[in-house]
Amino acid sequence: MHPKLIDIHTHVNFNAFKEDGPEIIDRTLKGDVWMILVGSQIDTSRRAVSYAEKYPEGVYAAVGLHPIHLFEDHFDVAEAEQTAGVPSYTTRPEVFDHDAYKEIAMHPKTVAIGECGLDYFRGRDTDEVKKAQQDTFREQVALAREVKKPLMIHCRNAYEDVITILKEEKADEIGGDIHFFAGSWDIAKQFLDLDFYLSFTGVITFARDYDEVLRNVPLDCVMVETDAPYVTPVPHRGKRNEPLYVEQVAKKIAEIKNLPEDQVFRQLVENTRVCFKI
Ligand SMILES: [Zn+2]
Repeated sequence: MHPKLIDIHTHVNFNAFKEDGPEIIDRTLKGDVWMILVGSQIDTSRRAVSYAEKYPEGVYAAVGLHPIHLFEDHFDVAEAEQTAGVPSYTTRPEVFDHDAYKEIAMHPKTVAIGECGLDYFRGRDTDEVKKAQQDTFREQVALAREVKKPLMIHCRNAYEDVITILKEEKADEIGGDIHFFAGSWDIAKQFLDLDFYLSFTGVITFARDYDEVLRNVPLDCVMVETDAPYVTPVPHRGKRNEPLYVEQVAKKIAEIKNLPEDQVFRQLVENTRVCFKI
């Protein structure tokens, strides 16, 4: 089977979909869109795997500890993620447990380690927080190398440090994706040199800051995602995001790159299958 598109980073395994997660997954598959459910802590990572194993194909998991989950932190979704209708929450601190993550990382439906990385946004840039994030990120790069699966990386206001760690930890041996890429073309080139892909969200449908990178980046280094329930694309702004809306992101890439939609859709799927060995 060859789907129309693959949403490579979505959170139907989060509490925002607690009531209707399986319904949303079924609807997405019926729309000929596949998805990678991404965990951000041990419980959401386990839920991603347990959803994925219910489907013979089309639903996959990424397991990891997100950098904002190391310390208790209040997260204002409306402000931080430009998304209406998703409640704010306070994070529960977690210490990375290698063995617990390794167990789910080895599951055949797990296609990546993450989301992991660095997030120095809004006060998360004290020495203590940065050190903890960097140590935890290094441990997850090591786990990815150990189980030989690619990385799903979250990076906010920390591109230089992420690049340094990827190089020091030899992450180019496994590769992966820089999720929600928001850096400059100069930063983008450094990730491409490390054999990483860049993925883009619905934000490209309503903000023009991404156009230059999108015009420059080769189509075979790009993937698409929704990051649902966050950053809902135009024309669905104001609603909870969901994986089917990845089509709006892919269409916008075709428009910015001035290429036929069917060619872009096919290449995006191909890239995802190569990167995550789906
Ligand atoms: Zn995410």
